[in-house]
Amino acid sequence: MKEQPTQDIDWDSLGFRYYPTRSMYRSDWDGTNGWSPGELIPFGDVKISPAAGVLNYGQGIFEGSKAYRSAKDRIVLFRPDMNADRLVTSAERLCMPAIPTEEYIKAVRSTVSDNADYIPPFGKGSMYIRPLLWGTGSVLGVRPAPAYTFLVFVTPVGPYFKGGVKPLKLKMTRNFHRAAPHGTGNAKAIGNYAASLYPLKLAKESGFDEVIYLNAAKEDILEEVGSANVFVLKDGILKTPMLGGSILPGVTRDSVIRIAQEILGLEVHETDVSIDDLLDADEAFCTGTAVVVTPIGNVTVEEDKVTIADGGEGETTRKLRTVLMGIQREERDDPFGWVRPLN
Ligand SMILES: *Cc1c(COP(=O)(O)O)cnc(C)c1O
Repeated sequence: MKEQPTQDIDWDSLGFRYYPTRSMYRSDWDGTNGWSPGELIPFGDVKISPAAGVLNYGQGIFEGSKAYRSAKDRIVLFRPDMNADRLVTSAERLCMPAIPTEEYIKAVRSTVSDNADYIPPFGKGSMYIRPLLWGTGSVLGVRPAPAYTFLVFVTPVGPYFKGGVKPLKLKMTRNFHRAAPHGTGNAKAIGNYAASLYPLKLAKESGFDEVIYLNAAKEDILEEVGSANVFVLKDGILKTPMLGGSILPGVTRDSVIRIAQEILGLEVHETDVSIDDLLDADEAFCTGTAVVVTPIGNVTVEEDKVTIADGGEGETTRKLRTVLMGIQREERDDPFGWVRPLN
C-alpha cells in the first residue's frame, strides 16, 4: 500500500500555481544576535516595514527544489545540499548573512514534514519548496539592510509533463539580455526575474513558450532559456554554456552533465555555445527543477523559425530525462547518492 496524502485536493488538476499549505519556517537575523532559532509558524502573510531593504533596493534571493513520494513509498529530497550552497553564494553577492547548510536543510525538512499531507501521490506531481532570504531591516540610503528574514514555504504542484512531453517553441531575443557580465546572473537574485517578465510577456503574446537569451558581452553565444539552462547535442557531443559568468548554476544542469558522462558515456563540453550550434543541433533541450529535461522543438530568430532536427524529442534527451527522473523517483539505482529520504 502506498503511503497516501490526506488532504482533500483534486491531485489531477494541480498545475504550477501557488496553493496555500499549513505552515512555513522562519528565522530572523540581526547584527547583535545572529540567526534566531528557526521555527514553524502558521502559513500566512508577513508584516514588513515600508523601508525594508528588499522593498526599496531588491535585496532578496530565493531557491527552488522539490520533495515527492518515491517508488520506495517514502518522501525524498533531491540534492538539498546543492541548493543550500547556492543560497550561500547568492547571499554573499547581495551582502546578506549566509544560512548555515545544516540550518537550511533542517528548515526544508521541517517544512516538508509538517506539510507532508499536501504532497501529491506518487506520479501525480510534487511539493515545490521555496526558500527565501530578504532584507527586512529599514534602510533609506543604498546599503545592506541591518536585519534579514529566512523563510521556507511549500506548495503542491502537478507534474510538468501532464499530457506528454511537448517540445518548446522559443523566441531568441536580441532586444533584451537576462543578465550582464559581472552582474548578478549567477545568483538567484529576485531582481533578475523582475527584469525577465517583460521579454517573457512579449514572447508569450506572440505564441512562444519561453525566451532564449544571448550572452550580453558576446551576442553570438547562448546564455539561458528563461529560468532553465540550455544544452545542445551534435555528433554525440553534448555542449552547455560554461559557468563563471552570468549563467545560473542549475542543480539539474549539474545532474544532467554527470548522468551524460557517467551513465550514458557521452563527451560533455562546458564551453561557449553559438547560435549556430543550437540551430544545427541534432538535439537541444533545457534543464531546471520545474522543466526537468524538456526538448526544444523550434527557435525563432528575428522572423525566421528554425526547427531543431525534426522538431520532436531526441533519443538522448529522452534518455537523460528518463534516467534523471528514474533516480529522483527511486525507480532505479542512485549511484551518486543524490536522493535523501525525509526521515
Ligand atoms: C533556478 C534557475 C535555473 C535552474 O536551476 P535548477 O537548480 O536546475 O532548478 C536555471 N536558470 C535560472 C536563471 C534559474 O533561476
